[in-house]
Amino acid sequence: MHLDVAIAWTDATWDPLAGCTRKSAACRHCYAEAMTAAASQAGMWGHGFAELGPAGPAWTGKIELLEDRLALPLGWDRPSRIFVNAGSDLFHESLPNAAIDRVFAVMALAPHLTFQVLTKRPKTMLAYLLDSEALSRIERAMGEIATDPNLTKIDSWPLPNVWLGVTAENQKEADRRIPLLLQTPAAVRWIAAEPLLEQLDLKVGTWLKEGPNAPGPKLDWIVAGGEIGAEALPCQPNWARSLRDQCAESGAAFFWHQWGEHVPCAGVEADPAPEPVKMTFSRVGAAPSPRLLDGALHQAFPFARS
Ligand code: SF4
Repeated sequence: MHLDVAIAWTDATWDPLAGCTRKSAACRHCYAEAMTAAASQAGMWGHGFAELGPAGPAWTGKIELLEDRLALPLGWDRPSRIFVNAGSDLFHESLPNAAIDRVFAVMALAPHLTFQVLTKRPKTMLAYLLDSEALSRIERAMGEIATDPNLTKIDSWPLPNVWLGVTAENQKEADRRIPLLLQTPAAVRWIAAEPLLEQLDLKVGTWLKEGPNAPGPKLDWIVAGGEIGAEALPCQPNWARSLRDQCAESGAAFFWHQWGEHVPCAGVEADPAPEPVKMTFSRVGAAPSPRLLDGALHQAFPFARS
């Protein structure tokens, strides 16, 4: 399965998994569920993973590693950022470790690519990255996948070319997921505050540490954007500004992705109290919405740390 989605903060998507289940408010307008359900007739790639029922698209709960998609990145020569599983979750509770091992094996075999992994299940991710047997299992999987039998050794763990992130659409999920992410060994830690459903405090000094040499784990990259979908919540300009300013204060990289379904009308100042009904927005639907925040593009990327 390959989801044909345009995402400005990545160069390509790689979907070695199919299937998922909803986890939190950010899943409310899951495009993967809709795209999979649209391709769910017998013989199509989405068959068995989602259905188109009277209440709309719905995951079936089946989730699987697709072996025919697994090794695709090994044929990609150009150094690029690759978003892993745009249409699923690598740390889904139903996925066996053996499947995660094989995805990590491919990422280890492609050090020239940067893999952006995003999950709504950071507890599973933490347990996996701390599993003392994961490394040897991944190396075994490398031996099964690599055409060169010498490529079965990982020299650096966590993998320097793998960025690990969590979705933080509201404060409740930020409070729940970010502390788990910060305990997880990773070269780069990032959050996707997309869809951004309310103002977020990313705790400058704790989660966002000031200065590049601040000790201890911290968030390196903040991606944010508005919600898209039939009942999408308009994203208040002040929510976006707050993230921009927290990143500026701490030095974290900030990427403002898009406004979502509703774009604030030009010249309208945000109400300091985030109250959607008081704002004026124009509805643009699923079309790529403008990426300017107060007239400026914010498209920063982090640097990997060893
Ligand atoms: S975790 Fe991602 S793919 Fe899975 S249901 Fe939620 S939004 Fe969709």
